Amino acid sequence: MEVICDYHIHTYLCKHAVGEPESYVETAIKKGLKSIGLSDHCPVPKGYDPENRMIVENFAEYKAIVRRLKEKFEKIYDIEILFGMEIDWVPGRMNELESFIEKNNFDYLIGSIHYVDELPFDHPDHIDKWKSSDGINYVWNKYFEDLYKFIQWGRFDIIGHIDLPKKFSMRPKRMDKIYERLEKIFSLAAEKNIMLEINTSGLRKHVKEIYPSEEILKLAYHNNIKIVFGSDAHSPNEVGKDFDTAAQMAANSGYKEYYNIKGKKITL
Ligand SMILES: [Zn+2]
Ligand SMILES: [Zn+2]
Repeated sequence: MEVICDYHIHTYLCKHAVGEPESYVETAIKKGLKSIGLSDHCPVPKGYDPENRMIVENFAEYKAIVRRLKEKFEKIYDIEILFGMEIDWVPGRMNELESFIEKNNFDYLIGSIHYVDELPFDHPDHIDKWKSSDGINYVWNKYFEDLYKFIQWGRFDIIGHIDLPKKFSMRPKRMDKIYERLEKIFSLAAEKNIMLEINTSGLRKHVKEIYPSEEILKLAYHNNIKIVFGSDAHSPNEVGKDFDTAAQMAANSGYKEYYNIKGKKITL
C-alpha cells in the first residue's frame, strides 16, 4: 500500500510553519510522492487573524513560491506540484473570499474550519475558553452546524481535518448527535462531489489520532465519499508522514482506492 499524493502542505507565510519550501518538496521526492500541493492558510482579503495565516500582501510571494518549485522540480523529477489553498469558513465574509478565489486560478481548495464564533478553538492558547463541558458540547455542535453551511456554500474540493474539535481530546457528551450531523454532511458532500481528506497531523497532536476517526471514515465510505490524503505538514519532515497508517485505516474502513486532485482513481 503506497500513497503517492499529499495535498496538505503549508509554507512559512502562515507564520507557524518552518523551513524552506524546497525542503518540503525534497522530502516528498525522497518518499516517492508523485503529486503534492501547497495549501497554505488563505488570507481573507480585508484581513482576518493575521497572526496565524498569510496576509493578502503576501499572496504574490505565495504564488511565486509555487511557480519556483514547479520550475525547479517538475522537469527533473517525476512529481507534480499544485497550487492550492486551505480556506476557512468566516461567516459574513464569504463573498469577499469568493471573489478572491474567482480571481485566482487554484488547482484545488481545502475547506477547513478553525474558528467557531471567531474562537480559534484549535489554538492551544484558547483551550481555557471552551474546556468546560458546556463549552465542549457547544463547540462540537456549532462546528458541525457550520460545516454543513460551509459545504452548502461549497466552493472547495476537499474537506480538511473533519473532526478537528477532538484535537485536545475534549469530547462531547452526545457523540451520537454528531454522527447524525455527519450523515447529513456526507450526503450533501457526496452530492456536490466534495472529497474528504485523511489528515495525519492528528497523530502529532494531543489526541494522537488521524482526522477523521475510523468510525467517521466508515460513515464517509457508506456515503460514497471519495478520499484524498494530506499530512498538514508545517515542517519539511512532516510531508507524507504516517501515510502507511492512514492507508491502512482507509482500507479497514472499506476503501479500496483514493483519488488524486484531477479525479484519477488510485488503488490503495
Ligand atoms: Zn496551520
Ligand atoms: Zn487546518
